[in-house]
Amino acid sequence: MSNYKDEVNKLLRLESNKGCAECDQRAPLWASVTLGVFLCTRCASVHRHVSKPVTFVRSCTLDEWTEEQLRKMQSMGNVKSRELYEAKMPRNVVRPGRDATFQQVETFVRQKYEHKLWMKKEEPKIQSKTQPVPKTNLLSFEVEQVAPAPKPVIQKSKNDVTEWLRTEPQTKPVQPKKELPSLEDFFAEQNQDDLFNMVKTTKNQNIMNLFEKPAPVRVAW
Ligand SMILES: [Zn+2]
Repeated sequence: MSNYKDEVNKLLRLESNKGCAECDQRAPLWASVTLGVFLCTRCASVHRHVSKPVTFVRSCTLDEWTEEQLRKMQSMGNVKSRELYEAKMPRNVVRPGRDATFQQVETFVRQKYEHKLWMKKEEPKIQSKTQPVPKTNLLSFEVEQVAPAPKPVIQKSKNDVTEWLRTEPQTKPVQPKKELPSLEDFFAEQNQDDLFNMVKTTKNQNIMNLFEKPAPVRVAW
């Protein structure tokens, strides 16, 4: 780019970029073009040590920049970057000052950008169910509608017939059927008076006829 240096200088004059992104040292002349932050010489050397893909350092005055790198610097900047990467930073965590050792700055930089310990979480992109489904998003709406319902949990219980059927062994011994006595034998064995008292309340005429007639015992029921 022909005029990228003018653009970089314009960004460096912004109040938000007048101090190093890590230690607030004035007049930074370096930048991490992957993170979009301006850095002092000391912090730039730490970023260079941490290196790609976390951070990639360029000089604001010596290096050639690509258009993409410039756009990253324009879209981010030091204040915005802190809002993003230090959003959840506890109060007891202190940014490395001018007296901090290289190791201390490196630990801070790795926690901040590599492990993203204090980074603001991105807004969830999934729509909540209470939001109306836009017409252009009918496909996802349909998918949501046909999603399978969770299977009901079957409680195991001895009283549960299905469970009993499933667990009952199929080799249950079959009780031999008792031969019923013939009707003739049955009546022959009974006391006729008791039998009559037992069935006299019945309204079945066939039964009543059975006891009123002396002989016949074969009756079609
Ligand atoms: Zn610094």
